[in-house]
Order: sequence, then structure tokens, then C-alpha cells
Amino acid sequence: MSGFTRTRQPQPLTRAQAIAILQPIASEEIAAILSQQDVFRLDHDCVNPAGHDAIASCGDVVCPHCAKVFWR
Ligand SMILES: [Zn+2]
Repeated sequence: MSGFTRTRQPQPLTRAQAIAILQPIASEEIAAILSQQDVFRLDHDCVNPAGHDAIASCGDVVCPHCAKVFWR
């Protein structure tokens, strides 16, 4: 017998699998956007003299200096 072994069709992702893939990408993108502009017109009340930074942490967008949460 020759040829190839037929395999199953790829299964669609479940909602949880899609979230696990997309959430890190989305939070990194949001952090990159927020680090470039002050979209929420936040007052500069940060311990960092240069103001808030935005980084992705555990799916949230937070300031690494004062732990302010910008996006959850
Ligand atoms: Zn801050």
C-alpha cells in the first residue's frame, strides 16, 4: 500500500484556546500604543520623573514604576 495516511481535519480553537493565543499579543500591542501617547489624558502622578510607562503584565497594561493599571 502506498500514498499517504489520511489525517483528521484541523479542529477549530475553543474560546479559551483563542484567548490564550491572542491575549498576550493584544496586551503587548496596547502597551506599545499607550507608551507612545497619553490617550486617557492621565495626570502625571507617577514616582517616575518622566511619567508613566506602559507595559503588559499578566494580561493587564500597567505602569512598572507606580503599578497604576491602565487597561485590564
Ligand atoms: Zn506610573
